[in-house]
Amino acid sequence: MTQTELLVIGAGPAGCSAAIYAVRAGIKTVVAAGAVPGGQLLQTSEIENYAGFENPIGGFELVDAMHKQCKRLGVEFTSDEVIKIAGEKTPFTVTCAGGKVYEAKSVIIATGAKARWLGLPEEEKFKGKGLSACATCDGFFMRGKEVCIVGGGNTAFEDALFLAQFCTKVSLIHRRDAFRADQVTIDQVKNNPKIELVLNSVPVQILGTEMVEGVRVKNVKTAEEKEIPCSGLFVAIGTTPQREFLKDSLVALSDNGLVLASERTHTTIEGIFAAGDCAAKYYRQAIIAAGAGAKAGIEAAAFINKNR
Ligand SMILES: Cc1cc2nc3c(=O)[nH]c(=O)nc-3n(C[C@H](O)[C@H](O)[C@H](O)COP(=O)(O)OP(=O)(O)OC[C@H]3O[C@@H](n4cnc5c(N)ncnc54)[C@H](O)[C@@H]3O)c2cc1C
Repeated sequence: MTQTELLVIGAGPAGCSAAIYAVRAGIKTVVAAGAVPGGQLLQTSEIENYAGFENPIGGFELVDAMHKQCKRLGVEFTSDEVIKIAGEKTPFTVTCAGGKVYEAKSVIIATGAKARWLGLPEEEKFKGKGLSACATCDGFFMRGKEVCIVGGGNTAFEDALFLAQFCTKVSLIHRRDAFRADQVTIDQVKNNPKIELVLNSVPVQILGTEMVEGVRVKNVKTAEEKEIPCSGLFVAIGTTPQREFLKDSLVALSDNGLVLASERTHTTIEGIFAAGDCAAKYYRQAIIAAGAGAKAGIEAAAFINKNR
């Protein structure tokens, strides 16, 4: 069994920021980064809204800088994938896929979330080339262009209003004619002359050679198909928190699988904290995940110092 004071699970912005704050508070910190260290930022080529960079920075470059900063400060990284957290109180036992077991006085869960995609065969090809799961992140690159957005909940509706501010046309594609968004937002969308509702319809093909040039949709009632030209296709059908490893733990989850954490990142188990997209009810952005990670690092360091 490997002993550490703090084990951070996840090496995205939340995990890295948590580790930076903890290690600078004198805490022995190990980050279990998982098989794909870096998280969701690796899926995006340009980030323009992370404060501190005059020019856009690549997702890989940003997360690589975070990893290097952590290492310079003395954080230890492993590529272990955590499969189980056990214990009702400190110290906790954390088991990894390769069989390695850690004993940690405190644990920070920073395992992010995965965007849900449509499952179309062309998706991999067009990710970052007009296809995105984040309008807040990539919408700005579509200014002056026509875009489509898929979804029927608050995110899709709010994203449609956001995109309509600078896109020439927004087609909101939804598989039903009833929505899960709140009525005020639905009314705003319906009254926005730039937004067209494409209802009872599902995307069946993304069109384009190098970049997205359009989407073919099928009406689920009539089976009729049509092509909608667009330069951007935004998928807003939800995210799935990474939670498989928590299924036998005592850390409470919300109905939709988010880790329940307080404003100060405390979970339902004293000594286990959660930060970033795995616990984020509203904002799923790198800078917000980093901020939450900082809070978790401060809280975990205080917890460890109290229990030394
Ligand atoms: C296509 C796309 C574009 C985006 N563009 C932007 C943008 O321009 N600006 C912006 O601010 N945000 C952007 N985002 C959102 C941003 O990437 C996320 O909000 C942010 O990465 C969340 O950080 P996180 O640390 O909570 O999780 P993540 O970045 O998802 O990191 C989670 C980490 O946990 C690890 N992990 C998961 N499970 C385990 C396990 N069991 N054991 C060990 N490790 C595990 C993963 O390997 C990963 O290292 C974008 C997201 C996507 C999908």
